[in-house]
Amino acid sequence: MITDPLVGLVKAIGSKRFTLEYPEEKQQLPDNYRGKLRLDMDTCISCKACEIICPNKTIDMVDVQTDKGTKIMPQVNHERCLFCGLCEEVCPPKCLTLTKSYDYERYDRRDFVDRPEDLQ
Ligand code: SF4
Ligand code: SF4
Repeated sequence: MITDPLVGLVKAIGSKRFTLEYPEEKQQLPDNYRGKLRLDMDTCISCKACEIICPNKTIDMVDVQTDKGTKIMPQVNHERCLFCGLCEEVCPPKCLTLTKSYDYERYDRRDFVDRPEDLQ
């Protein structure tokens, strides 16, 4: 019936809002939400376990200059990430962790590649 959409519209106008004024309003996330990865560069031991375990070849170890010289640390291509959590699980010092951040839209897909310094 042609009136059905109109009835739906009238009901929607009379009901509570069900969209958010993003980005001013943020969505409430469940406790187990898996978002962008964070790296604590001070405690990374450069073991490569995260790179080896990643099922989608999302992580590459890259050189980073530190106070103690050059170290290798994970660079993450968030475009390829499955948010499976395996890298977090396998990391010995638990310095690579999934966060609740979902707010990382980019205009260029190449910008999804985050160097260790960007994983803060
Ligand atoms: S969450 Fe999974 S897919 Fe993403 S970087 Fe870690 S191991 Fe790879
Ligand atoms: S982030 Fe964790 S698993 Fe990856 S190289 Fe550093 S210490 Fe190893």
